[in-house]
Amino acid sequence: MHKVVIIGSGCAGSTAAIYTGRAGLNPVVIKGHEIGGQLSLTTEVENFPGFPEGINGPDLVENMRKQAERFGAVYLDGQVQEADLSKRPFRLNVEGEWMETRTLIVASGAKARWLDLPSEQKLIGHGVSSCATCDGFFYREKKIMVVGGGDSAMEEANFLTRFGREVALVHRRDSFRASKIMLERARNNPKIEFVMNTAVEEVFDVGSNIVTGVRLRNLVTGETFERDVDGLFVAIGHIPNTQVFKGQLDLDPDGYLLSHGGARTNIPGVFHAGDVQDRVYRQAITASGAGCMAAIEAERMLEAEGH
Ligand code: NAP
Repeated sequence: MHKVVIIGSGCAGSTAAIYTGRAGLNPVVIKGHEIGGQLSLTTEVENFPGFPEGINGPDLVENMRKQAERFGAVYLDGQVQEADLSKRPFRLNVEGEWMETRTLIVASGAKARWLDLPSEQKLIGHGVSSCATCDGFFYREKKIMVVGGGDSAMEEANFLTRFGREVALVHRRDSFRASKIMLERARNNPKIEFVMNTAVEEVFDVGSNIVTGVRLRNLVTGETFERDVDGLFVAIGHIPNTQVFKGQLDLDPDGYLLSHGGARTNIPGVFHAGDVQDRVYRQAITASGAGCMAAIEAERMLEAEGH
């Protein structure tokens, strides 16, 4: 039986592993589908404190993993397919093998929803991004396109006008899911051009491994047209990875874990860390901070129980 199992190997999971490892709890980290989390999909990270020259996203998470392993953390390939949290020890089915743990840290993240175009997928990190805060800075004086019609798209489009020469906001309908205030703010921003009833059909240029443009389709007329673009920001929502906890852990209507204070969920001994609970900040540093909080809570609980 394990003392701590951590689900997820992004910033939140690996930071929790560093702390629980140093506390001598021999944490087991289940790597999950997106090994290294969202940072493994980025290139340069310039806003993680401590790296004045910036650091490559995949290198940053790899460093965290090595740091955790130095303190005894064990990383396992695979995903959690079932979870039984009805009593302690908790039971997890990882790729067909059941394991038991006294405490559980859920750091399984939220995946960005993508358009799922093959060309888009190939160019993630090379001009295609799902995070304006992370990557906007690289598009100074460039042509930027944002896809989506919700608050995220409005927020990202507004934010990106600080950097880009122009920002085109492409939305598939002619009405918006975004709140009135966010929409008005975007509408009043002279740098944002609204391109309505339009879908992105292809992102160029996979051959040169950098975004140079897109092919768009007007969904009302059927007409297709191309447009030069340097950066494509897809802001069509996130999907928290909480499916296996439905009916056991308290979730909000969109599936994010609901916090019961600190890093606590509704089940004592199950803690949350990172994007799986955070729909607001979603940063590497906030996920790491949350991983630290969850680790300290797990450690204190185990200590109080004499483990
Ligand atoms: P959202 O509200 O679900 O909006 C997603 C948008 O993406 C919708 O306009 C949707 O179009 C579009 N979309 C979805 N799938 C698409 C596809 N395959 N191709 C093209 N377009 C697609 O998601 P969100 O904007 O990330 O917001 C999520 C939640 O966080 C909301 O509750 C929001 O209020 C909140 N949030 C708040 C703030 C803030 O207040 N500062 C900032 C960000 C997010 P349709 O409308 O046609 O379905």
